[in-house]
Amino acid sequence: ADGRACYRVYSADEDSSGRQEHRLSEALVTSLKVAPGEFSVVYQPQYDLATGKVLGLEALLRWHHPELGMVSPARFVPVAEQRGYIHELTERLIACIDADLQQTALKDGKGRRLAINISARQITDNRLESLLEPFFERLRRAHWQPEIEITETHMMNLSRGCLAKLAEYGEKNVIVAIDDFGTGYSSLAYLHRLPVHVLKIDRQFVQRIGQIGDDAGIVSAILAIAEALNLEVVAEGIETEAQKSQLQTLRCHRGQGYLLARPAPIGQLSFD
Ligand code: C2E
Ligand code: CA
Ligand code: CA
Repeated sequence: ADGRACYRVYSADEDSSGRQEHRLSEALVTSLKVAPGEFSVVYQPQYDLATGKVLGLEALLRWHHPELGMVSPARFVPVAEQRGYIHELTERLIACIDADLQQTALKDGKGRRLAINISARQITDNRLESLLEPFFERLRRAHWQPEIEITETHMMNLSRGCLAKLAEYGEKNVIVAIDDFGTGYSSLAYLHRLPVHVLKIDRQFVQRIGQIGDDAGIVSAILAIAEALNLEVVAEGIETEAQKSQLQTLRCHRGQGYLLARPAPIGQLSFD
């Protein structure tokens, strides 16, 4: 395939990473089908930086495989997308949250938000709507305001159909957030047309503002855009007091990160 006059040496070592990916992929499909107990959900609070009050929770999926151990969603979510199992994954997530809604910590949302991550490519899947609508009803009955987060990298590829669906969610009082904002390719003209309420500043920008020599330019630019378009901003990945206080100086009022709280299972979740 590479043409003539060259050769390649086969090494079993190099092959093993590909084999590992294959193993993970097969394991994920099997687990989604037959081992619902391997999945769980953790919640990370979002705070009002000035008052320290919890404004909402982001639900993050966890997968614990008996042999592979804890696998990060950063690894298994793309695999589920490729294999066409992202819907089944969201079904798992929702089943986990439903179970937790019976527990004291989630019983009454008191009007706070509960955010889930949705893959851009599943937005137009008809099964999603029939899964989310009754779920959002259950959230509302427990006084949670539903929110969906969609990663910005995929936003550019959103078809008219996707945008229309997002707008529908917006009309039904679901908060729509762009995740990892700043890492993708949204143009300003495009952003202006998107049916979106919240921009989540990606942690790579947040973590840079704590460093000497950085003028926090990108973060202030994002805040300016958000103000012009009347959008809320949430800073992700706040790990130090310095980052937190700089964000407040820049007038970013909402944040999430290890400094404030790590994602935790329902039993370890505590807020007033
Ligand atoms: P994300 O939506 O940007 O979620 C934030 C990630 O950053 C989480 O990793 C969280 O644990 C981590 N994080 C939070 N605070 C800090 C901090 O201060 N410092 C650092 N270094 N990291 C922090 P996690 O849980 O591994 O999730 C990774 C990604 O996987 C998520 O990124 C999201 O895109 C995706 N994901 C997670 N759960 C789901 C799900 O249920 N469905 C879909 N479609 N995607 C999901
Ligand atoms: Ca997210
Ligand atoms: Ca993010």
